[in-house]
Amino acid sequence: AAARRLRVEQELRRAIGTADLCLHYQPIADPRSRIPFAFEALMRWHHPELGPISPAEFIPLAEENGSILDLGALAVAEAARQAAIWRDWIGDGRYLSVNVSARQLADMDVPALFAAALKQERLPPSALVCELTETVAADSHAGPLLHDLRAMGVRIALDDFGVGYSSLGMLRQLPVDLVKLDRSLVVEAAKDASGRQLLLGMAGVIGALGLKVIAEGVESEAQLAIAAEASCTGVQGYLIGAPMAAAAAAGMMAGAARQG
Ligand code: C2E
Ligand code: MG
Ligand code: MG
Repeated sequence: AAARRLRVEQELRRAIGTADLCLHYQPIADPRSRIPFAFEALMRWHHPELGPISPAEFIPLAEENGSILDLGALAVAEAARQAAIWRDWIGDGRYLSVNVSARQLADMDVPALFAAALKQERLPPSALVCELTETVAADSHAGPLLHDLRAMGVRIALDDFGVGYSSLGMLRQLPVDLVKLDRSLVVEAAKDASGRQLLLGMAGVIGALGLKVIAEGVESEAQLAIAAEASCTGVQGYLIGAPMAAAAAAGMMAGAARQG
């Protein structure tokens, strides 16, 4: 495991800036019509010898050794470039969502990064959403940065909400626009009555605070039905579509545009 770790770390530094690293896009759709209105940009790494390496493996390593700063800058720039190619589809509530991790927020000027990418591609700020996990967003240093992003017009999504130390009370203080309910809540919701009530209740509270709710990791019709019942704004998961290359995402957008 230690040898693999070392290898992956070294290879990652080398891969940044090459075609081995690219973004894939996962649709986020209306739970009733199933028509996508957004895509989340997710980093994919295909190593020529080691094959595909999961972000769950390389993102934490990149966080530790600092290469997340380059990787993160790459993700924002690439997502903006892609959003510009898709500019006819983006807008009117349609957007691309980009993940930003703790170290990025602490060690680089994330608002400036978004501002530069938007300017470079001449995009409206609403074209991109910045996804942060709750622990990152709740850090006291994050507050001013989140306010800066929002003042620019970039909306903020709280990722993986509902695991760890998430508190609904926190949502009153944080400048957040969207809340993404973690996959584990969605799984529990379709298991039994209390799981279902928990998701319905949380979505209800979040919605009542004026925030949009997106259910993550929706894999079954039963889970989709609960997300719809909970009036979630969006659902994301394999049932709607797995993360896909840009060309396939473009095909899905064309389909969505035809359906209205
Ligand atoms: P995340 O932001 O919560 O992204 C959702 C993850 O859930 C993705 O994993 C996605 O492929 C997976 N997923 C989507 N639908 C389903 C489903 O129906 N069932 C199941 N079991 N899984 C589903 P992925 O792509 O492996 O990414 C893992 C994490 O790595 C992401 O979690 C995100 O935190 C991080 N990450 C990915 N790309 C980037 C990036 O460009 N920058 C940063 N900072 N982090 C990234
Ligand atoms: Mg995310
Ligand atoms: Mg998530």
